[in-house]
Amino acid sequence: MNAEVPHTAAIEVVALTKRYGEGKPAVDGINLRIASGSYCCLLGPSGCGKSTTLRMIAGHESVSSGDVLLENRNITNLPAAERGTAMMFQSFALFPHLNALDNVAFSLKMKGVGKAERQAKAQNLLERVAMGHLAARKPGELSGGQQQRVALARALITEPRALLLDEPLSALDPFLRIQMRAELRRWQKELGLTFIHVTHSQEEAMALADTMVVMNHGVIEQMGSPHEIYNRPVNEFVARFMGGHNVIDTPAGKIGVRTDQMQVVPADVAVPEGFASKAAVVTDVEYQGTYVLLGVQNPQAAHNANATAEASVMLSEEQFGKRPFVVGESVQLAWSPSVAHSLQ
Ligand code: ADP
Ligand code: MG
Repeated sequence: MNAEVPHTAAIEVVALTKRYGEGKPAVDGINLRIASGSYCCLLGPSGCGKSTTLRMIAGHESVSSGDVLLENRNITNLPAAERGTAMMFQSFALFPHLNALDNVAFSLKMKGVGKAERQAKAQNLLERVAMGHLAARKPGELSGGQQQRVALARALITEPRALLLDEPLSALDPFLRIQMRAELRRWQKELGLTFIHVTHSQEEAMALADTMVVMNHGVIEQMGSPHEIYNRPVNEFVARFMGGHNVIDTPAGKIGVRTDQMQVVPADVAVPEGFASKAAVVTDVEYQGTYVLLGVQNPQAAHNANATAEASVMLSEEQFGKRPFVVGESVQLAWSPSVAHSLQ
């Protein structure tokens, strides 16, 4: 593909802002281009503006300023039902008293579509998500996975160009959550639709997204593939929020080093040639099964019981077995400059 030509953006958000009152806006002038047919996750801590952004795209929230475009059409001021988007809510929000078929057909009923036509279309969609044989069941008679498929069929009946999902998995138990996210990913690929999925879970976003958008305080901190964001967080916030990283103060500024690429060297042993290093004291040794996690602190703070670990180092069981470290031991944190990147 020609690098000069960007992907067709299914959704484009331009200088989008939402103010609920005085003070800092809940969403503060964000710009986004989401490629057609991709899985995009909006990720960030609670209150950072993810749901507000999604609701402005969906038309469930008015914008204070800025624009939302769907396939180059400005939809900023269109009612939700006329945008070409559909929402899927937490725990799927199915009507408990309606069977699967009537749940799926519901929005067509609201639009005044005749019974035979809407039921035929709903049945067709249930078949597409392998639920045709359970059309007469009510949500309470379906498993979590089956309910998710009904919710998907219900969202698809309006033939949306983009599906918007607000924490759809967060109320599920951990086992089901992992199963359901694999299924969401599979359906997204099969349908070829653009999905925008809001989550506060880094793990969920990494498992699902083609593109991750990391938000904080109403702005976008970083946008990129899970691999880019995990390996090259641009700043301290992203590095800490994504986890698995150490943020180290050096005379040249803050750097990020992955916990599995950081090394610890006994105080009386030279660090490998070319490596940078910093004196430290071991404050925690945690056995984690396949690896051992060492917590270290700088020597001045190591005796302060309230000091949190300055860095975490992941050692394989084998490495740790060869040279076990103990709490209180003086060591050197050491890293190759090739695995360190500077943080803004
Ligand atoms: P997230 O989904 O990332 O947790 P939200 O988009 O729900 O965050 O909220 C962003 C900010 O806007 C929060 O500070 C929240 O309290 C505020 N907010 C959200 N909805 C409203 C509302 N309807 N009225 C006033 N403030 C709101
Ligand atoms: Mg939210």
